[in-house]
Amino acid sequence: MRFRDHLLAAAVTGLALYPRAPQRAALMALGGVALDIDHFLLYALRSGDWRPSGALRYDRRRHRPPRRGDTRPRYGSLRSVAHQPLATLPLAWLAALCWPALRPFVAGITMHLALDLHLPDHDWRVRRRAQERCERCGVAGLPLTVHYIVHPHRGGNRWSAGNRALWCSLCAREAYESRAERYA
Ligand SMILES: [Zn+2]
Ligand SMILES: [Zn+2]
Repeated sequence: MRFRDHLLAAAVTGLALYPRAPQRAALMALGGVALDIDHFLLYALRSGDWRPSGALRYDRRRHRPPRRGDTRPRYGSLRSVAHQPLATLPLAWLAALCWPALRPFVAGITMHLALDLHLPDHDWRVRRRAQERCERCGVAGLPLTVHYIVHPHRGGNRWSAGNRALWCSLCAREAYESRAERYA
């Protein structure tokens, strides 16, 4: 999810949860974007570009499908162990238990991780249909993820299982590239 959307979602939720405590609302907004430091550091390390403005520009670009002839590099999901809910959340909530003042901040972090979840990956309709095989090449035993066949940004249905498919990473890239060609 984009930095801007994380900030917006956490700020709005903070104001709704703490309408009479602007400091706590602000703390929640801060927590909502704290994990973006993770994305920024990984971006900077991989690209060698340490300007926050460069990172924000990349954040905008990476959510659009690549155009033909666009050779600018892409850096994957940019998530370190801090983005693993099972690593971060127990620690964060333990801290919140000991220091109640931290609670809005931890709520913001929790929200960031929830928003980063790629929900289609947990679509049991697709998983059951595919039976843990890639629905394009039939391979089993590789990590498989759920992809949109026609992306909602291109008018595909966001919720129907018919517009989702379980693919291995190789097939996902091939499909992605052939689509990029078609739309170029
Ligand atoms: Zn994130
Ligand atoms: Zn495959």
